Amino acid sequence: MFQVPGTARGLEVRRFEVMAPHPIGEVAFDAVEVGDEERLGREGQGLELALATLARFRTSVAAAANGFARRALDESLAHLKSREQFGRALAAQQGLRFDVAEMDARLRAAELLVEEAAELSDRGERAGAEVARAKLFATENASWVCDRAVQHLGGLGVRRGSAVERLFREARALRIYEGTSEVQKLILARELLDR
Ligand SMILES: Cc1cc2nc3c(=O)[nH]c(=O)nc-3n(C[C@H](O)[C@H](O)[C@H](O)COP(=O)(O)OP(=O)(O)OC[C@H]3O[C@@H](n4cnc5c(N)ncnc54)[C@H](O)[C@@H]3O)c2cc1C
Repeated sequence: MFQVPGTARGLEVRRFEVMAPHPIGEVAFDAVEVGDEERLGREGQGLELALATLARFRTSVAAAANGFARRALDESLAHLKSREQFGRALAAQQGLRFDVAEMDARLRAAELLVEEAAELSDRGERAGAEVARAKLFATENASWVCDRAVQHLGGLGVRRGSAVERLFREARALRIYEGTSEVQKLILARELLDR
């Protein structure tokens, strides 16, 4: 594994846009030269370092997903209490009350999964299943919670620039990067079935 300075000759970054702002691009290498001093870790240790890094980043992506979901739930609660339809606040509608209760319960479960994964990673312990479970559940849940929040705000929910519209778009990519949800399921299944 090497670090390559952004100014290296032969290195080209081609930026592109995704559905929510993200610093992302394709990185092309054309006969880039790197010296020994740019190697990270020992020779042959690259994959090990990459996997260790993934455990940390996957947990932080799961935590970010919980942050998006928390804000979306807050937006829902504020709107349901303030918006009146058919002579009473939306918060009085049982169907919507069931929704926020489920959003809250799922979000708390996701937060506890992240805490468990982070604690093990911080202690330097093997946490393949815990990290995969947290990343899978928190990111899938964030998309679901943000979607419910959009629904609760009705037409305002899809208006470009509203908080829940932005959160809905922001949450989507988390299910793809740092290992897709399917990859997390493969890891979890391997832990359950093959170890
Ligand atoms: C916003 C964003 C930021 C990113 N940041 C980075 C970054 O910083 N560094 C970096 O290196 N990459 C980054 N990526 C790339 C990201 O890691 C990949 O997009 C992701 O790993 C999926 O790979 P892929 O796009 O090639 O999809 P593919 O591998 O082609 O997969 C397509 C679909 O098939 C599913 N699939 C694939 N194999 C299986 C299987 N065996 N079983 C079941 N389903 C399967 C996948 O889960 C996915 O749903 C980023 C992507 C996004 C969207």
